[in-house]
Amino acid sequence: MNVYLDNNATTPIHPKAKSAIIEFLDFFGNPSSMHSDGRIVKEKLVIAKQQIADFLNASLDDIIFTSCGSESNNTILKSMLFWPKEKQNLVTTNIEHPANLETAKFLEKNGIKVSYIEVNDDGIIDLNQLEKSLTKDTGLVSIMYANNEIGTIQPIDKIAKIVKEKAPNAIFHTDAVQAAGKIKLDLKNSPFDTASISGHKLYAPKGIGILYIRDFDKKRKSFTPLIHGGHQEKGFRAGTENTIGIIALGAACEALQSEIDVEIERIKKIRDYFENKVIENIKDIIINGKNSERVPGTSNITFKYVEGESILLKLDLNGFSVSTGSACSTGSLEPSHVLMALHKKPEIAHGSIRFSFGRENRIEQVDKLIEILVKEIDILRKISPLSK
Ligand code: PLP
Repeated sequence: MNVYLDNNATTPIHPKAKSAIIEFLDFFGNPSSMHSDGRIVKEKLVIAKQQIADFLNASLDDIIFTSCGSESNNTILKSMLFWPKEKQNLVTTNIEHPANLETAKFLEKNGIKVSYIEVNDDGIIDLNQLEKSLTKDTGLVSIMYANNEIGTIQPIDKIAKIVKEKAPNAIFHTDAVQAAGKIKLDLKNSPFDTASISGHKLYAPKGIGILYIRDFDKKRKSFTPLIHGGHQEKGFRAGTENTIGIIALGAACEALQSEIDVEIERIKKIRDYFENKVIENIKDIIINGKNSERVPGTSNITFKYVEGESILLKLDLNGFSVSTGSACSTGSLEPSHVLMALHKKPEIAHGSIRFSFGRENRIEQVDKLIEILVKEIDILRKISPLSK
């Protein structure tokens, strides 16, 4: 197995979540069944939901289980299609994850007016443009908490204040998929109305997500379920619960609750050590988003004159898993829309690699990584037509 440095793509399952899954596998009842097999599972789900609510400091009633972060974003954004025409104005940013951006484009095709706020060279949104884009008719503001490619954290409090002043009736949604588990979230005391969270980014398995809707019982009328059917999740999200996913997410959240403070510091130390070593040992690099507040484990680096894909493959051959910002994984050669939004030239965007550290990483792994990076970047630059 490689040294895994791609924790923004997905995270390894927490050992406590693994044990919880194994223990739970014999409990196969449907939580909607009235018999004891069902009731036992239902009770276990309630305990897991409480563990999740405690970790996020959210009210139990305000958590809706979905299948993933994408579903949570889609549910909020697509609800706009059912809003009065004058409220069908969405304000979002041009660095969102495709789960938000592609949904916004879909909405645009279906008559919703969308404004895309730009970001500065450090990946922080232009608050003046935000202010100008908001009107009393803005129905929804959807701005991500932390960016998946460069890790920058948006000034959520300032954004909320502006939204409240300029568009007091708008709903403020945040895609918190890259924030949850990486920094501490306090949903009850946060200034947004709704948030998306994904289990597999916080050491639970894939296939479980959260849609947080503050004061769900009061606000549910504003939103339209994406999936109709049974009465699960208070009739808001039908489909038999992903019981294993929920149990695992509960266990992961309980474990993270006690370790997150230490882990944030430890992971930040690894990231900073890594970046300092890169600065010391490799010339012609750019650390993207470095001047902004970032989640502790993310480091997005452009190595000038080389293609990110070549670096990724070389690192993979040498036992390290990382990712590129550019969309080679989707078969497209388009440079990363996030780095392009940061006003980088396409060749700069193409040469970038995202290193994302997590709870299984150790500082000793960085020394080996640097050794390989120094060697491979040198080789790649020697054969690169882009080199001076
Ligand atoms: N939003 C952000 C910021 C993400 O990074 C991701 C996944 O990478 C998603 C949404 C989608 O989450 P999921 O994979 O759970 O659908």
